Amino acid sequence: MQGTVYKSTGSWYHVKANNGKFYECRIKGKFRIQGIKSTNPVAVGDKVTFDPEEEVEGNTGVIKKIAERENYIIRKSVNLSKQTHIIASNIDQVFLLITLNNPPTLTTFIDRFLVTAEAYEITAVLLFNKVDSYSIEELAEVKYLAEMYRSAGYECIGISAKTGKNVDKVHDKMLGKTSMISGHSGTGKSTLINAIEPSLDLKTSEISKQHSQGQHTTTFAEMFDLSFDARIIDTPGIKGFGVVDMDREEVGDYFPEFFERKQDCKFHNCMHIEEPKCAIKDALEDGEIAWSRYKSYLQIMEGEDENYRVDQYQK
Ligand code: GDP
Ligand code: ZN
Repeated sequence: MQGTVYKSTGSWYHVKANNGKFYECRIKGKFRIQGIKSTNPVAVGDKVTFDPEEEVEGNTGVIKKIAERENYIIRKSVNLSKQTHIIASNIDQVFLLITLNNPPTLTTFIDRFLVTAEAYEITAVLLFNKVDSYSIEELAEVKYLAEMYRSAGYECIGISAKTGKNVDKVHDKMLGKTSMISGHSGTGKSTLINAIEPSLDLKTSEISKQHSQGQHTTTFAEMFDLSFDARIIDTPGIKGFGVVDMDREEVGDYFPEFFERKQDCKFHNCMHIEEPKCAIKDALEDGEIAWSRYKSYLQIMEGEDENYRVDQYQK
């Protein structure tokens, strides 16, 4: 049978079979998986093939195969072996909730998040929440930011999880897909989920709280079905969006507006920092690329190599 992993408790996997029934599955013996070496062989979101077992009570099964993952997000284990733990896989999109205040979401955070999403090959949609609470000046700032991120290649929606404004648009985007909802604590993730799916109200917030109280030291991701054809993956206790190792040469490729212009740089291996005839810096001067995006780029590059200092390039 085929199914999708909804939850993992370490040795058991809660698998929803394609017939809609849930099975408690185990794996037996050694398991060979493509690509990555991780502490967990099976992750939430994995598409699996399993053999159901005859049981007196409940449905159980043995996982035989994992389909190749479309994408996955990871966390590095804290122990010395620095092993990788796969948090979740096969994620269609991630919504990033952004608020101007209470709490503030900085563009440097947004940009790092987007770089990670690009590296993971997960589509990111920016939701500017709490538009009901903003002043005219703040609404102008939301508009400015939304236009800036749209021109970088990202879909942006101004919403109010509280009043329901544009929540239908988020609902429609979720149709048929597996989504994650991210953002700083207090940006309105629980409120948004409740607005989309009142019947789920307890789950996300309560599970998140339960986990953050330190009952479990391991991070458990969990998938939930919504009442319409949509799934969300909840990743309680995970700050940000995992970590990706990347080389300095790769960073520019994760800024879509850089990537689409880099073939016009004089040097094919241009880092867009000190090189002459750089298409990215030209676009920056022409106002086609936002300075805040470029600053984030330099900051990320600086993190990779301290020879480059951000303030040298600040306007
Ligand atoms: P979470 O930590 O991301 O899950 O955030 P919550 O959903 O718990 O929301 C944090 C606070 O922001 C709560 O007091 C919510 O009532 C409030 N909030 C959430 N969405 C909105 C919104 O669209 N407008 C306003 N004014 N407040 C909101
Ligand atoms: Zn360049």
